[in-house]
Amino acid sequence: VNMVTVVGGGLAGSECALQLARRGVRVRLFEMRPRVSSPAHHTANLAELVCSNSFKATRLDSAAGLLKEELRRMGSCLLSCAEKASVPAGGALAVDREQFSREVVQLVAQQEGIEVIREEVTDIPEGRVVIAAGPLASPALSARLHDLVGGDSLAFFDAAAPIVDAATLDCDVLFSQSRYGEAGEGDYLNAPLNREEYESFIDALVHAERVVLKDFEGGDLFQACQPAEEVARTGKDAIRFGAMKPVGLTDPRTGRRPWAAVQLRAENAERTAYNLVGFQTNLTFPEQRRVFRMIPGLENAEFFRYGVMHRNTFVDAPHVLDCTFAVPGTTVRLAGQITGTEGYMEAVASGLLAALNTWADLAGTPAVSLPRTGALGSLVAYATDPETVGYQPMHVNFGLVPPLEDAKRRGKRERYAAYADRALKDLDAYLQTRADLFHV
Ligand code: FAD
Repeated sequence: VNMVTVVGGGLAGSECALQLARRGVRVRLFEMRPRVSSPAHHTANLAELVCSNSFKATRLDSAAGLLKEELRRMGSCLLSCAEKASVPAGGALAVDREQFSREVVQLVAQQEGIEVIREEVTDIPEGRVVIAAGPLASPALSARLHDLVGGDSLAFFDAAAPIVDAATLDCDVLFSQSRYGEAGEGDYLNAPLNREEYESFIDALVHAERVVLKDFEGGDLFQACQPAEEVARTGKDAIRFGAMKPVGLTDPRTGRRPWAAVQLRAENAERTAYNLVGFQTNLTFPEQRRVFRMIPGLENAEFFRYGVMHRNTFVDAPHVLDCTFAVPGTTVRLAGQITGTEGYMEAVASGLLAALNTWADLAGTPAVSLPRTGALGSLVAYATDPETVGYQPMHVNFGLVPPLEDAKRRGKRERYAAYADRALKDLDAYLQTRADLFHV
């Protein structure tokens, strides 16, 4: 029977249900609100935006803008709802959140084949299922999901460190070396600090403005993993004996061990992006930019992802899901933030992909295989690559796409425009080969 159960009527679940139904599949869409709510939702609406009303930038030479264009070409339903509900917001797509949800509710109601069931799902349903229960999935369902994926593969908090653009780092200052000599050349870069630099950096870190956490994100979150600024607050040298320890490092410029060092670990094989090891943080984004740019060699760093720490339910997708976000050997597929991708539009994109892949399963046709050059294709590749280590929620960014040959020659905007151009050409070529999936 062409019947699929979708759990969660949020951004991913609503898009997924609509896309499946448009392809003639019968859908049971379970949404627990208003009977049971999450700590962040306030309404009974499908596709409620829990925080900002912005879907981020529209300019094509940004990863967020490119994602929107890719979704437009793939026929996303929720993107068109967002565009109908848009409010003026400069270069961003922002919406009237009530109207946005209303548009989604209306589309779902008009779409033949979707039954909306207002119940909490407390066990993994039988048959073909897409679980799109979000970062605040109900505890009962989270427990069942934990049983399904096993071990430490389901996290309840994220703790992401900033990721910077390798092309914007000062390689005269940073040096490539592993503390213990086991890593490959370029896997780790070190930013050496002398005592004075270290003390000013710690002072700035401790006094910088932090994000005000929601009530439900209090103490438990900090127990899970300490933000760098909290570690720094426990004592002037605390980080120097932790994330910034200079042990095993020799600064080639001085021939000596530095007073402290920030280690940057390559995020990908092409080494176009580096992670600031141990710097998970709750500083506001402008403060991260100010404080982390005090690190020698990072004065002009551009950030692909800022550090974040949240209450967040997500699975270790690279190690427990297949490349279509299905749990291997089952008829269960995950979509949305619970896969460890981050962001409103990313959740919409993930719902679309889950629908296409589920439909491909039903039709016995090959799964979706988006070009890696795209905003979405590169995010999927990252999130499902077993080589990905320390998986933390990731939004689309150009640090995930394969580099251009002449990357360093170009300025940032020109480089990003070239990424977008390449991505859309590759996507169009791919879409032409999969008329079976995309023409509804
Ligand atoms: P959701 O949109 O949360 O949808 C999941 C749905 O599943 C919910 O409607 C929920 O009620 C339902 N559900 C849960 N458990 C069950 C169950 N057992 N049975 C039935 N239904 C269930 N991203 C941004 O881009 N910008 C932001 O400003 C932003 N702010 C955020 C603020 C907070 C507090 C949180 C937690 C996340 C935020 N995110 C933000 C991240 C993310 O983009 C959103 O959480 C996004 O809504 C994720 O989409 P989703 O479809 O995966 O989950």
